[in-house]
Amino acid sequence: MERTVAVACKDGLHARPAAEFAKLAKTYVAEVSLRRPDGAPAKAKSAVKLMLLAVKEGEEVVLEAEGDDAEAALDALSAYLATHEAGTAAPTAGPAGLPEPASGTFTPPPAGLPSRAAGVPASEGAGIGPAFPFFPEVIVAPDRAVPPDEAVDEVARLHAALDATTGALIANKLEGGATPEDVGIIDALIEVARDAEFVGAVEAEIRSGRDAVTAVLRAGGALAASFERVEDDYIRARAEDVGGVTRALALSLLGRADADLSAVPEGAVLVADEVSAWDFTKVPAGRLAGIVCTQGAATSHLAIMARTHGVPAVLGWRDGGAALRSATRVALDGSTGDVWVDPDAATAARIEARVAGDRKARAALAHLRGVHPATRGGRPIEVAANLGSLKEIGPALEAGAMGVGLFRTELLFMERKSLPSEDEQARTYAELARAFAPHPVVVRTLDIGGDKPVAGIAFPHEDNPFLGWRGVRMCLDRPDVFKPQIRALLRAALSGNVKVMVPMVSTVDEVLRVKALVAECRAELDAEGAEAGQFELGIMVETPAAALMAGDLARHVAFFSIGTNDLTQYVMASDRLNPRVADLNRADQPAVLRAVEMVCAAAREAGIWVGICGEAAARVDLIPTFLRYGVGELSMSPASIPRAKAAVMEAE
Ligand code: PEP
Ligand code: MG
Repeated sequence: MERTVAVACKDGLHARPAAEFAKLAKTYVAEVSLRRPDGAPAKAKSAVKLMLLAVKEGEEVVLEAEGDDAEAALDALSAYLATHEAGTAAPTAGPAGLPEPASGTFTPPPAGLPSRAAGVPASEGAGIGPAFPFFPEVIVAPDRAVPPDEAVDEVARLHAALDATTGALIANKLEGGATPEDVGIIDALIEVARDAEFVGAVEAEIRSGRDAVTAVLRAGGALAASFERVEDDYIRARAEDVGGVTRALALSLLGRADADLSAVPEGAVLVADEVSAWDFTKVPAGRLAGIVCTQGAATSHLAIMARTHGVPAVLGWRDGGAALRSATRVALDGSTGDVWVDPDAATAARIEARVAGDRKARAALAHLRGVHPATRGGRPIEVAANLGSLKEIGPALEAGAMGVGLFRTELLFMERKSLPSEDEQARTYAELARAFAPHPVVVRTLDIGGDKPVAGIAFPHEDNPFLGWRGVRMCLDRPDVFKPQIRALLRAALSGNVKVMVPMVSTVDEVLRVKALVAECRAELDAEGAEAGQFELGIMVETPAAALMAGDLARHVAFFSIGTNDLTQYVMASDRLNPRVADLNRADQPAVLRAVEMVCAAAREAGIWVGICGEAAARVDLIPTFLRYGVGELSMSPASIPRAKAAVMEAE
């Protein structure tokens, strides 16, 4: 018997949901498999096979079951896929595996430092400390022939090593300091080590005459290679977990151990080619000042764990191998990807001062979490969070966000092989609204262009995509893409305080056309008997045209949110991604500030509220100016919220 179901698991069947799903499947005697409608089946009891399918959230899959309790198994497993939301956070990754831009928290490297764009900025913050090198020796396969009559003993040795290895992981999990994210990752590693397919492949190698170490290395290598072939960045990064598990098993069989990561001294910077999540679990919480690796990406489990624990990290620093091996001291900036090996005294002093300053500032602001700040004159100001995915809800609430001032919906579209459905979008926006209610969540409609391709939207080649078919321009031309989003937002508005804003507006006509589409979607939902809520409609002011026409635009919208990132690049005609024009591309340029002031004046005149959601909203040096102009809401990356609240409370 079979059943077709749409996968609701956030980010698809990645490591943790796959592990949970396999675990659930194992509670039934029925043989269960899962496949795409036109694809080959994978055994549902094998987490690694499930992961390798790289099923995305929203994709339809077919479950097939055979055996006594097949029906019950299908009920439970399809319910899991249709409703389950992974219990732990998946990686916070931007498009194409790059880290989410640290909007609002970006701290430029101290002036005068030799800055070279080095590695992947994987976990923000500065760090400096003695290097703790972790370059484990390569394990060479012994290639010892095992005669058939010894195979049973060799398999028994394998199982003893499996028990020892998973036992050590369970002990790590139970030790103090493991966060829920750690536990999820450790569980996924255990699931790989115990995976029936993997263990079966190793046993088959042994039975074909190979010793257990060689068998583990061969089967593990083949499995890791399968992960590396997967297109999905996140699933591909699981090759690293397989490598960690394989190595741990091989070492256990050889009676050897890697450098003892549990002995990392306080304040050290871990330097390595690669640190698997497995390795990281051994480092006692709170010991590390930073991590620098020549391999790895922002989607690797190591990056997630580093971010969870607040350890600055630079990964994928490809040029750093030789220098790191001989380093005695290392400094890093996890916000920019810069690394200094054996920094000179002046650089070290500057980084140390930054680390100390950051620590002190964080501690001093912790009490502001529940505070709703007001200026000295008593004007309340909303300090909200910029989010790109639901995974960031926790840190935003933790930081004291009073709602969401910018929910970038691009990730929802970019992570998939097809456009997200209206239902998926409605679920996502509703969950966001519920998490912050009664505070508002401002959802930005799709802001995408030819520089950020999306499956399901064919972008023509453009010589200058930043001046091209993007944001509202593309959406108005593609009602098949835009209307499901608007309908989803109307439905989600029933779940909380949803506001909607439109990016890249440059004419009044665009706003009128969006409003007409909203009315059309509402009428459609009414006719279908579907419930729809109300939302305020606002626009981002981020083109010079919108700033110049703010007075006219204000008559048609409920609010403005100033996107200083784009407004700066367009006002100053300086590419926001080009470091050569970085001096022009500054929100504190008088021309940009004047544009902001004009927009605020137009908003005041029309009686609508105005916020800022570009990076400049988090600049404590600019906050007093913005408040003086009349800005009532500042939205930024969660980490910047306490600092911004303090700046508001000090402003006249
Ligand atoms: C902006 O342009 O300021 C903004 C917030 O939008 P984004 O950075 O996503 O372009
Ligand atoms: Mg923008």
